[in-house]
Amino acid sequence: MVEAQEKVQKPASKEKKRYYRKNVDFFKLIEKIKLWPSRNGTLHGIRSMKITGNTAEIVTHCNERFIIRNSKNSRAARWLRNKWFFHVCPGCKIPQWKLEKYSATYLNQFWGSSL
Ligand SMILES: [Zn+2]
Repeated sequence: MVEAQEKVQKPASKEKKRYYRKNVDFFKLIEKIKLWPSRNGTLHGIRSMKITGNTAEIVTHCNERFIIRNSKNSRAARWLRNKWFFHVCPGCKIPQWKLEKYSATYLNQFWGSSL
């Protein structure tokens, strides 16, 4: 209880926590949100994901195949973090609730955790 009070009084310590974001495993994030932004800015829904070492094969609901690398600094990681995408893939039929979840605090919470 005392700890919680201290956090409220010291916003500076909360800021510090943000730096732990870079420790998050990119694959874990993808596996969890099941969304993938392709190079042309289309957001796909992931049907299956097979992780092999430092690469993973993603198959989307519209039957597209992507080989991705486990990098938090990649284009896709940046896009997901910043929620940049131009349109949602019509073939993947990503449910509205998922998009809402994605665009809300969900992702921030994930990136904020230190898995
Ligand atoms: Zn798609």
